Amino acid sequence: MIRINVDAGHGSYTSGKRTPPMPVNVDFDGDGVVDVKKGNTIKEHFANVKVAMLLVEELKRCGFAVTKTGFDDADAGDDTDVLISSRQKTVKNAACDYSVSIHFNAYGDGQSFNSAQGASVYIHSSYPKDSRKLATKVLNQLMAGTKQKNLGVLTANLGMCNCKLMNTKAAILVETAFMTNQNEAINMMGKKKFWEEAAIEIAKGLCEYTGVTYVKKPAETKPATLYRVHAGSYTTESEANKAAEQLKKKGFKELFVYSAKVSGKTVYRVQLGIYSSKENADKMLARAKAAGFTKAFTLKS
Ligand SMILES: [Zn+2]
Repeated sequence: MIRINVDAGHGSYTSGKRTPPMPVNVDFDGDGVVDVKKGNTIKEHFANVKVAMLLVEELKRCGFAVTKTGFDDADAGDDTDVLISSRQKTVKNAACDYSVSIHFNAYGDGQSFNSAQGASVYIHSSYPKDSRKLATKVLNQLMAGTKQKNLGVLTANLGMCNCKLMNTKAAILVETAFMTNQNEAINMMGKKKFWEEAAIEIAKGLCEYTGVTYVKKPAETKPATLYRVHAGSYTTESEANKAAEQLKKKGFKELFVYSAKVSGKTVYRVQLGIYSSKENADKMLARAKAAGFTKAFTLKS
């Protein structure tokens, strides 16, 4: 079995190593909840762990054995910044064939955004072994996804690229995007979609290099859409109860009143029914309107 080490650069408490203050609210997964408020920063280690954790899942699914350094689970908030020498020792002791270290790049003083952008993959200048081939495969995959500037395969004396000390056949360090570039910080480092994409692409590069067939994540079966038909929405509970009474008298059954928060305000809704078919929901909606509840509406979920 081929063993790959996945390394997440830095730690939760490493100074610097974060975006400049974000110019907008950041919502990682598009669920409408603000994850990082405008003016706050995203730590590099946080994004490194997000990509690294997803990469671990990808690699395991493809049949690789995986070792982790710099992080232990999806929680990036409790990782100390492990010494490079200690990370190298872990890789060596686990007899890893390859190592991939995940980072986000920075340019300038780190206090403000600038135009430096793109993705690159580092290999060791003195002990690269087969790393260039692996780096090229991974970089090509990264370039096939979200459009980014190709900064190429670069050489440096980086600890997590040192095949000699880690006793690996190849080792690369991926600079996924620039955290000091406004666009890349907002749309790549700050987006779950990009973390997933990067993890898939790095996994594909490793598969291609090792001759292992990439196994795609099975598509999630989406829960069916539900249509909840409401007679109306009221600012007070008594108004809603009154409407419910009227509806009962007109033959509507199984209805109920519940409260919900709409942009910070509590509203009271009268729900008439829940349907998995839009046709049946539309019928109920028409019935409510015909009964005088002209503001009747349907919520899709
Ligand atoms: Zn880094």
